[in-house]
Amino acid sequence: MPEASTIQSADIKERLATVRQRVEAACERAGRSADDVHLIAISKTFPLAVSKAAYDVGLKDFGENRAGDLTEKAKAWPGEHLGGDIRWHMVGHLQRNKAKDIVEHADVFHALDSPRLAKELEKRAGREGRVLRCFAQVNISGEDSKYGLNPEKTHAFLDSLAKFSHIHVVGLMGMASFVEDPEDVRHQFQLLRGLRDRYDDSQNTSVDLDFLSMGMSNDFEVAIEEGATHIRLGTAIFGPRDY
Ligand SMILES: *Cc1c(COP(=O)(O)O)cnc(C)c1O
Repeated sequence: MPEASTIQSADIKERLATVRQRVEAACERAGRSADDVHLIAISKTFPLAVSKAAYDVGLKDFGENRAGDLTEKAKAWPGEHLGGDIRWHMVGHLQRNKAKDIVEHADVFHALDSPRLAKELEKRAGREGRVLRCFAQVNISGEDSKYGLNPEKTHAFLDSLAKFSHIHVVGLMGMASFVEDPEDVRHQFQLLRGLRDRYDDSQNTSVDLDFLSMGMSNDFEVAIEEGATHIRLGTAIFGPRDY
């Protein structure tokens, strides 16, 4: 066991060094500070030992796209909300019947995309006596297969959250189309940024759009150039997944 995780740590460390160089270069091009770009290591499909190996080389934010997997991992290795020193980010679509698990175990939720889900999370978080930090997910690719709010309905959705006190929207999240050349999705990141910039959150105590969760392994540099504050990287950190 220790041997396997040592090897894994070395691999992760090497990939991470490359990622950090690329993040810095993108920040330099954009005139931004690399301190403003937070890396979430998407550990989905990998065993917990792989996240622990990543922790050993300095990573503290981990993302999962299935409520069951996040719950299982967070039970074994609790996040900040339960007193730990790491954070579990739920980045995938959430069904309402799993809202309770996420409220209990996740530190941040990136896929808030419907009034009914918001209501359920508000209720569950109230019972749990916590405020759940969320990103509202917008369907920036326009693909039917992708989850997220219709861009045109995003501001009205945010307005509707003002009455809640147990969910706090800290930013917008988007997933660009999967393309060969990331330049082809630059406009999708610009769309998300525009929605953020044009929303007046000053009267809405449930919403402070400070952050943009956008950019994955294949397109994070363009996302950073367009203002990403949270990039979600799986393959670039851990190598290829089985699916
Ligand atoms: C899997 C996943 C990622 C990371 O994907 P990579 O291409 O491996 O970097 C990011 N965000 C979400 C929502 C995901 O499901």
